[in-house]
Amino acid sequence: MSFANFPLSPELQKAISEQGYNEPSPIQKESIPAILTGKDVMAAAQTGTGKTAGFTLPLLQLLQQGQKAKANQVRALILTPTRELAAQVAQSVATYGKHTALSSEVVFGGVKINPQMMKLRAGCDVLIATPGRLLDLYQQNAIKFSQLEVLVLDEADRMLDMGFIRDIKKIMALLPKQRQNLLFSATFSPEIKALAKDLVHSPIEISV
Ligand code: AMP
Repeated sequence: MSFANFPLSPELQKAISEQGYNEPSPIQKESIPAILTGKDVMAAAQTGTGKTAGFTLPLLQLLQQGQKAKANQVRALILTPTRELAAQVAQSVATYGKHTALSSEVVFGGVKINPQMMKLRAGCDVLIATPGRLLDLYQQNAIKFSQLEVLVLDEADRMLDMGFIRDIKKIMALLPKQRQNLLFSATFSPEIKALAKDLVHSPIEISV
């Protein structure tokens, strides 16, 4: 099985071959077709399994099909527990998306908010964010969610461990009800299952 078996655009296929990936990892074999259906997906995946490409590639494929983000809008939101992970995921999105016309930005706390407000002005197709800073930016009217199509929670178990559940719930309440939800977590504790009940609807479940 190769990446060519997936209905991914030439722009994405080019980025994949430039990365030197020969075949999709087990999680990618499942998550790529699942996410491309447009349904909600719940995946148990550890770091190092290729999970980032597992959600980024189909996400970019879906976004290549729709309308570009308008001023201050975001079409896909990827929430991560830490700045480090946000920066890492942003790097992957930039790498896999480099031959597409899609735009991405990353925002996290601990740095000045004004430059982040500026970079959101034109809107972006993919925003990678930590929960607290995202809410601050929303309160400053720097970001709008009416064009939002997909929400991704990456390392959801760590987000809960770090006490982000209230922020996540607040963010969910701001998003359009009609959207695709992708939940990635290393473990599926009772707390994650409780969150999943509110977040995902008839999800495709993946575990590798
Ligand atoms: P992740 O689990 O998303 O943190 O990815 C772990 C590492 O695997 C990253 O350095 C990726 O560049 C790499 N990787 C992702 N997908 C593949 C693949 N299909 N073949 C080889 N390496 C990959």
